[in-house]
Amino acid sequence: MRHVDPAIMIDMIEQRASKSERESYEQHLTDCRRCAAEYDSWWTFLSGLCPSSLTDAPTKLINECIAIYRKPEPLPSRFQRASLLFDSFLQPLAVAGLRGTPAESRQVVLHTQVFDVHVKVSGKESDRRIMAQLLPLQPDTIVDGAQIQLHIPGCPAQVTRSNELGQFTFSGVPNGPLSFFIELPSSGSIIQFSVQGG
Ligand SMILES: [Zn+2]
Repeated sequence: MRHVDPAIMIDMIEQRASKSERESYEQHLTDCRRCAAEYDSWWTFLSGLCPSSLTDAPTKLINECIAIYRKPEPLPSRFQRASLLFDSFLQPLAVAGLRGTPAESRQVVLHTQVFDVHVKVSGKESDRRIMAQLLPLQPDTIVDGAQIQLHIPGCPAQVTRSNELGQFTFSGVPNGPLSFFIELPSSGSIIQFSVQGG
């Protein structure tokens, strides 16, 4: 069985996964150390979000509570997923060679409802450097000052903010799958994406 996708872990933690989904993934989480560790870090992260919503946006939270009483269905997730447009690791070697991009630099492009994200990962396995940029789909979307969290299972999260061009960097990034959470200053939703196996 494949490793459990982070989006599914989030669904499980937020109790949006169906019973049958839950049971099949719980079995994998019991058997797979890597996924169990990742699940733990999501759990810690997501439970850490709640107090900050309370202090940052009490009105919004109250409105959400009212909404719960109006229609008794699960809250829509604050999380949106990004889709992968391009990953240089997944390209044939000849193409990477033609572009003159050596294997130590990986380029990933992801698409979300609000922006595209260009991510470049370089450096040694245990000491990677990430340079990335948010490219808004609408010209009036402000990407300055977005909060970006980087999570790697078993490591403390790193947090940074984007500059006025939507650029941000992380250095000294240890080995492991990269999970990003991006929150634009103008929206309450968090866009999540992962870069696996690098
Ligand atoms: Zn697994």
